[in-house]
Amino acid sequence: MSSDTDSKSSETDSKRRPLKPATQLVHGGVLRSPFGELSEALFLTQSFVYPTMQAAEARFKGDEPGFIYSRFSNPTVAMFEQRMCLLEGAEAARATASGMAAVTASLLSQVKAGDHVVAARALFGSCLYVVEELLPRFGVETTLVDGADLAAWKKALRKETKVLFLETPTNPGLEVYDLKALADLAHEAGARLVVDNVFATPLLQKPFEFGADIVVYSATKHIDGQGRCLGGIILASRALIDETLHNFLRQTGPAMSPFNAWVMLKGLETLPLRVAQQASSAAKIADFLAEQPGVTRVLYPFRDDHPQAALARRQMTGGGTLVSFDVAGGKEAAFALANALEIVKISNNLGDAKSLVTHPATTTHQRLTPEARAALGIGEGMLRLSVGIEDCDDLLYDLKRGLSAARG
Ligand SMILES: *Cc1c(COP(=O)(O)O)cnc(C)c1O
Repeated sequence: MSSDTDSKSSETDSKRRPLKPATQLVHGGVLRSPFGELSEALFLTQSFVYPTMQAAEARFKGDEPGFIYSRFSNPTVAMFEQRMCLLEGAEAARATASGMAAVTASLLSQVKAGDHVVAARALFGSCLYVVEELLPRFGVETTLVDGADLAAWKKALRKETKVLFLETPTNPGLEVYDLKALADLAHEAGARLVVDNVFATPLLQKPFEFGADIVVYSATKHIDGQGRCLGGIILASRALIDETLHNFLRQTGPAMSPFNAWVMLKGLETLPLRVAQQASSAAKIADFLAEQPGVTRVLYPFRDDHPQAALARRQMTGGGTLVSFDVAGGKEAAFALANALEIVKISNNLGDAKSLVTHPATTTHQRLTPEARAALGIGEGMLRLSVGIEDCDDLLYDLKRGLSAARG
């Protein structure tokens, strides 16, 4: 196993200038085997052999580098982790079997009975389950707040508070929360800020630049981007990974399969191309929808009419790949619109090359009471559109077809 690509690129870094993300996402983190393969190798192996007992002893003691067992380290998974570190500007990362494994481990590894967690109420459904139902079962109290209300976060803090957790932009309301202010609040309280950065993508928002301590992704979304594998990743400082996360993950085993890591690694190569196309189309589609008579509200972080437009421009470099909107006529009109679409597919997934539409009130947020949905701004006429990489004119044509069906 040679890491000459690594040392070459770090030489380039120090002698000239850091490589841009698009370049790092093609070349970064490569571990090339003695065969000199061009495409990153898939090391579909559970364990590794040692030349001698002494070598095994040294590797287990940590005196010599090397792989031991794929529950906690594997060369293909390591390439994916390293490439994500370069993209995110993180010192260390651990890949997981799914986004939920990443969220769960990043929270559970940091708390014990008696501790307290504060989270924004607008969370992905399973994240809400972990915070609201799972943590309290183990004696960790949790408080849910309106993520846009800094005073509410402040008021919720206690001396037992260990973690602040949020997603921004949120699902499906695309609300934007102030990462810098919340990182400062967390640190003043002696707590850490954990950011689920899925909706922003690692290209359009860099939570570490605003003080986040841990960034998590569902790699299932834009990182794969082609609807194939589940995956997740946790990024943080070397110290935090080594002291808090490594052993938790090693012993509990939510490991990413090398096969999935290989798919994600190849997904990263085209991530900037896909996200640029998706975000550009999403912005055009948001503007188009805002002009349509049957559309009563459009939510897109970079539109001037977004409630946190200024904040979004400060902490994001693009408005993202999702657009949420309300149609007049409630559920019936929203269903008619979605059913009439021919290119955009009905799916609760997001970040995919294919454009996808979902009706949050009857799918992802069905579990909530109507009052809880209303508090999150999720009405019966709301649709969430995940914009894909198709030609934007075709998507606009499809939406026109949907809107005319919704008008009946
Ligand atoms: C999808 C998603 C998750 C969970 O990821 P899985 O890979 O499906 O486990 C967590 N947070 C957000 C914001 C998501 O969109």
